Amino acid sequence: MSGGKARSSPDKGARTADRSAALHDSGSGSGSELAAEPGESIWQYAPAPESRDVVSIAPEYGLFVAGTFRPAADGRTFATINPATEEPLARVAAAGQADVDAAVSAARTAYEQVWQPMPGSERAKYLYRIARQLQERAREFAVLESLDNGKPIKESRDVDIPLAAAHFFYYAGWADKLEHAGFGPDPRPLGVAGQVIPWNFPLLMAAWKLAPALAAGNTCVLKPAETTPLTALLLAEVCQEAGLPPGVVNVLTGAGDTGAALVSHPGVNKVAFTGSTEVGKEIARAVAGTGKKLTLELGGKAANIVFDDAPVEQAIEGIVNGIFFNQGHVCCAGSRLLVQESVADTVVDRLQRRLATLRLGDPLDKNTDIGAINSREQLDKINELTQAGEAEGAQRWSLPCQLPERGFWFPPTVFTGVSQSHRIAREEIFGPVLSVLTFRTPDEAVVKANNTPYGLSAGIWTDKGSRILWLAQKLRAGVVWANTYNRFDPASPFGGYQESGYGREGGRHGLAAYLNV
Ligand code: NDP
Repeated sequence: MSGGKARSSPDKGARTADRSAALHDSGSGSGSELAAEPGESIWQYAPAPESRDVVSIAPEYGLFVAGTFRPAADGRTFATINPATEEPLARVAAAGQADVDAAVSAARTAYEQVWQPMPGSERAKYLYRIARQLQERAREFAVLESLDNGKPIKESRDVDIPLAAAHFFYYAGWADKLEHAGFGPDPRPLGVAGQVIPWNFPLLMAAWKLAPALAAGNTCVLKPAETTPLTALLLAEVCQEAGLPPGVVNVLTGAGDTGAALVSHPGVNKVAFTGSTEVGKEIARAVAGTGKKLTLELGGKAANIVFDDAPVEQAIEGIVNGIFFNQGHVCCAGSRLLVQESVADTVVDRLQRRLATLRLGDPLDKNTDIGAINSREQLDKINELTQAGEAEGAQRWSLPCQLPERGFWFPPTVFTGVSQSHRIAREEIFGPVLSVLTFRTPDEAVVKANNTPYGLSAGIWTDKGSRILWLAQKLRAGVVWANTYNRFDPASPFGGYQESGYGREGGRHGLAAYLNV
């Protein structure tokens, strides 16, 4: 692999992106096949695909109930596909009401007979075992995640899987120290947790849900997203290998009706949901008045605010990471760039040059920065909102790269000339699309940043510490990053305000969501 990136102007950068895509398409394996223009030196990455052989995908998967895999009671299945190629990966059982009943009943029995009475120090051993297994099988998990989700392998390898393991390690440490967590001398678990997770970080969201619940002494029934069930099922296999008592963790694959049956099941004591605000509201209605404890981690439309004294190159990296990480399928994505007017042209120009170096293509290639969109439905949604952006008068710039013919793809896109009333400034696009707005004064930045029904996250880029502290107090967002973006740590609580939901995941706060406090 040769290093370096040819760019000195946006035009040259665009060619780099075109050639990169051409390389991925042809699978030719060598940058030397690309013709250089006279006087232009070309530095290219040769393809570096991760091997698929580390994963063996079965043709069919069952539900994980009471410690064993079994077909759905009514035999229904659905296909899960690779969004980068549309190739079917496997068929997966679709859980119906009878399966939800069986899983909740298995979780109840395990809760009463085994998990809740077990000393915390013993529960911790299982969590440590799961964490170590995740580390040992990290490559397998990373490849499977990229295949099923479409995200670049370097992200699943360096972010999703290590953070998932870190969550189990972190909460394993709390399991025998709950009485020191600040929730009174003897905090009690809630019982059976019904947990519904989305497709953007499939394994990581499973870890965010399972690890604190188990550490606190609850048992779980987890419903992964329909388009990304495979790593949750591999995690179920890890639970088996770790000797986790049957019924402590159950995994029910299926669509939205499976999730709806789970959250409204009378045997569930606690509901935890991550996903769209729309479904979050439905769940809140279903759970209202039942006495079930509820945490909702929903959408966002975060402001990433760049002041004129910010270190520009650093801020550019933060903007790219903020919105193009994971194809922008991130609830806390910095999807609204608020940039101070005096530096707006410079920032947008440098941003486009930087984007021209991004490589879009095969998610399993270690050089890939932008992978596939997770599903056709999501691609349709991104297309619909970007078309609305153009129709409402914003100026669109998309990375001029060649998109693979099969699969679901969308190029990194920046809209300038965006006003606050545009849909692309208000609605969660959940794709690689950035809306740029400008401001003149810090007060105006605050007003614009807070002009959203959401309140999950925000970013601030400035040289002045005092401004960071002033602004962080004024932003209505659960997480505020300063001179960085999209940093996660299991010890740090995460969650939102307003339409971004309520409750916190991560840290000591994440335990409270699973304790009777
Ligand atoms: P959903 O909110 O529909 O899906 C999240 C999870 O909830 C999935 O497991 C889904 O199952 C399940 N589910 C769907 N309907 C119900 C229901 N009535 N009761 C219980 N569970 C249910 O998100 P989508 O995948 O449809 O994405 C739509 C939009 O939501 C995206 O475009 C994006 O804007 C936003 N989103 C936000 C996320 C975030 O982290 N904030 C994550 C994912 C999406 P199934 O997969 O089978 O439909």
